[in-house]
Amino acid sequence: MMEQDKLINGKEISAAIRGEIARETAELIAKTGVQPGLAVIIVGENPASQVYVRNKHKASLEVGFRSDVYELPESTTQEELNALVDRLNADDGIHGILVQLPLPAHLSDNEIILRIDPKKDVDAFHPVNVGRIMIGDYDYLPCTPAGVMELLHRSGVVATGKKCVVVGRSNIVGKPMAMLLLHESGTVTVCHSRTKDLAAECREADILVVAIGKADFITGDMVKEGAVVIDVGMNRRADGKLTGDVDFASVAPKASKITPVPGGVGPMTIAMLMRNTLTAATRFAERKGN
Ligand code: NDP
Repeated sequence: MMEQDKLINGKEISAAIRGEIARETAELIAKTGVQPGLAVIIVGENPASQVYVRNKHKASLEVGFRSDVYELPESTTQEELNALVDRLNADDGIHGILVQLPLPAHLSDNEIILRIDPKKDVDAFHPVNVGRIMIGDYDYLPCTPAGVMELLHRSGVVATGKKCVVVGRSNIVGKPMAMLLLHESGTVTVCHSRTKDLAAECREADILVVAIGKADFITGDMVKEGAVVIDVGMNRRADGKLTGDVDFASVAPKASKITPVPGGVGPMTIAMLMRNTLTAATRFAERKGN
């Protein structure tokens, strides 16, 4: 039987954060009259994306936001999508815009990321926001790495001076993750598919964050005794079950703390989207002088 305090419970932590956001939203509305508004755009019929969008809509309503969902047909053109983003950029009732990626192949993810007003870019994918994260002066953090940092903070894990190893270097998870750990004075190593001896690098880690997209890839022999292990991976097994990038059965006995999949990092992503949208609305109210 595993000690309960070893497990980092993302579901519980996410619920606590969403409760805080609901209270702060009520305060913002009472003080300024500004109700945070999030617009989510989805193009086409990707079932996984549809689930994510439904969850974001539900979470938005629960914390007291206005939530507009635009479900556009697969046949939508780049011009039509751009025009919708332009309209939302100009809409004072909408403070956050999220376009569910990836877009269908005939549309450009990059063009749409650049089109969203950086002030409303609650995914923090626009190069202006990415650059601001690099220099440590930002309003928004990308939701998944921000969620990992919250899990660490609220579990009493301090990165300062620790050897942190991030496996994966994507723009949405690995790279910003490494930057956030660096901002908190961790000594950070980033590993990827060309890393020579991944197991040896991982065994150095006091804090190991894994985001590669390969089911149960990190095994107990690759982890130092007492390490904190954060599993960002979300993989579907042949039997339909969700599993992480970390082989929980062999890693958990060695870890001092570990996130499960599901119920670890996953629920945090939406909480951080809510946090970014509230920040966007707060900044809007400040600019309006409320
Ligand atoms: P990407 O596919 O964009 O990136 C994967 C990274 O892993 C790449 O940098 C790649 O290296 C590296 N990698 C792949 N294979 C290996 C290997 N054998 N050894 C070492 N490194 C390897 O994935 P994402 O970053 O978008 O997502 C990663 C995982 O996190 C996925 O399972 C995804 O579903 C999940 N995810 C979960 C979220 C959540 O809310 N919980 C949100 C976002 C993602 P290289 O660059 O050299 O190719």
